[in-house]
Amino acid sequence: MPRTLDPELRRALAARIHYYNEMGIYDFYRRPVSVHTQEVAVPIAVDEQDIAVSINPESGEQMSPRKSAAVAAPVALEREENIFEVIALKPEQSVSDPVRALKIIREDLGDCTRCVLHKQGRKQIVFGVGNPKAELMFVGEGPGADEDEKGEPFVGRAGQLLNNMIKAMGIEREQVYIANIVKCRPPGNRQPERDECATCSPFLMRQIGVVKPKVIVALGATAAKTLLAMNASMIQLRGRFYDFRPAGVRSNDRNWDGCKLAVTYHPAFLLRDPRQKGEAWKDLQMVMKELGLKAPKQNT
Ligand code: SF4
Repeated sequence: MPRTLDPELRRALAARIHYYNEMGIYDFYRRPVSVHTQEVAVPIAVDEQDIAVSINPESGEQMSPRKSAAVAAPVALEREENIFEVIALKPEQSVSDPVRALKIIREDLGDCTRCVLHKQGRKQIVFGVGNPKAELMFVGEGPGADEDEKGEPFVGRAGQLLNNMIKAMGIEREQVYIANIVKCRPPGNRQPERDECATCSPFLMRQIGVVKPKVIVALGATAAKTLLAMNASMIQLRGRFYDFRPAGVRSNDRNWDGCKLAVTYHPAFLLRDPRQKGEAWKDLQMVMKELGLKAPKQNT
C-alpha cells in the first residue's frame, strides 16, 4: 500500500535536498534499513573526503553520524516512499547528447555566486572547452588573466605549452576536453582555497560524468588533490594511474563507470622550471600507452 510522508517532514527534506542541489550535489542514497527504522544518508564531497551526512527523518535536521546512529535505532517508522531516487538523477543525465548535457550544466551554473571568487574581479566564468566525447581530459587549477579575458581554459602561455604537450602525444587540442577545478579567476592568480574548490568542483564532476573520458590528466597539485580527495606531494602523486569516479555522480551508462587518472605538472609550473619537462613527458607517455597513442614522427 503506498504510504505518504508527513507534510512537515517532506518540506524539511525538500529544503535540505534543494540546498544540496544548489551546491551541485544530486546523488543521495538510502542506507539499508529494517522495516521499522529508517535513516537517510547523503554523501557529499567536502574538503578532502566523502562525508556521509545523516538527516533526522523526523526533523529533517542534519546530524552527526554518531548522533544519527543513536537516534535511528529507536525510531519506529514505516516509510517506503522512494523520493530520493526520483530526485537523485542530475538534469543532464536525462539527455543523451553530450553537447546538450553540458549546456544543461552550464545553465545550472548560471551567473554563479556560490563562492567568493564571483566577487573578486572575475570577468566571466570559464566553463570548459573541447570534444564533449573526448577520451582524454585535462583538468587544471583555475583560469588566469588570459582565460578570464577569453572565457576559455588554457589560452595563455601555459595554454600554448599544453597545446604543445597535446601535439606531442599525437593528437590535437580539439580532440580533448579541458577544464579547471574552479571556473572563476582567483585574484592575482593565487591558488584557489579549498572551500572554493569544494564548492565549484561538483560542476566539474558533472562535466566529467557527461564527457566520460577514458583518462583524465590532473595538471598540478590542486587539480590532483581535489579530484583524488587526498593530500600528497606531486612526487607521491605522479607516476601511476588511479581509478577515478567523479564524486557525487552516479553513472547511468553501463559502458562507463569511471576512468583512469594520471597526475603531471601544471604547464605554468613547467614554464617556471623547464627542467621538469622530461618528467612531465614520462607522465604523458604513460597516458599515451594507455590510450594507444603514438608520438608523431619528427621531421628530419
Ligand atoms: Fe561559482 Fe565556481 Fe565561480 Fe565559485 S569559482 S563563483 S563556485 S563558478
